[in-house]
Amino acid sequence: MTIARKLMKPALRWLNPKTSDRLKDFKMNKNTNLKPNILIVEDEPALVEMLQYNLEKADFRTEVARDGEEALLVVSETKPDLVILDWMLPYISGIEVCRRIRRDPETRDLPVILLTARGEESDRIRGLESGADDYVTKPFSPSELVARTKAVMRRTRPIFNSDALTYADVHMDLSSHRVTRNDKIVLLGPTEFRLLRFLLEKPGRVFSREQLLDHVWGLEADIEPRTVDVHIRRLRMAMNQPGAPDLIRTVRSAGYALELRNEV
Ligand code: CA
Repeated sequence: MTIARKLMKPALRWLNPKTSDRLKDFKMNKNTNLKPNILIVEDEPALVEMLQYNLEKADFRTEVARDGEEALLVVSETKPDLVILDWMLPYISGIEVCRRIRRDPETRDLPVILLTARGEESDRIRGLESGADDYVTKPFSPSELVARTKAVMRRTRPIFNSDALTYADVHMDLSSHRVTRNDKIVLLGPTEFRLLRFLLEKPGRVFSREQLLDHVWGLEADIEPRTVDVHIRRLRMAMNQPGAPDLIRTVRSAGYALELRNEV
């Protein structure tokens, strides 16, 4: 169970089961978990609120960390799609957080936008040298930051701007929700569709059951990791036509990856 899930779960227990189910359905229907996930690292509550409001309005999901240490934890646990990182943070500075993100092979390519009150040219250079993809000086307008976020996403994560995903002989059209394998239409349930979409975004990468739960079902879903196995099995059955190589690799005690192993 990830840190974020641990934090989310007790909150749901306060609700009666029916409310919690409705909440789950509501979140699932809105497809919140398919939107790019932005981690906001900032210790000023008012700024966090402003960033969350504007990014969510621009169709991003957001997560928040209030210091550098928490930021590194959330990065490794939930694998956000982009980080908005304040320079001045308690304990570990934003610059240091950015350096550590770049040093770790798992997060080397994670896009980072550095926020700072400093505007000196030398600071700008230090910020970019730490590996940040962009640099925004406070005070900034919300629309400017949203525009910069979209620009960095376009540059570093082109996948979020395309309306189709393809891997080997699998094709997913995101506007019509049509999935084909080897040009034959594959019918998938909504959960299997989201699961395949998530795996198609990062082929070859192994995801644990907990990571799949967080990304495909959302942090709010109060379900067992074993449920993932059930949906993976359904997805496999739908995708693997007779004689076709298995599309999903099971990594013992680690999780699942989208990977064609016995390619002909
Ligand atoms: Ca700060």
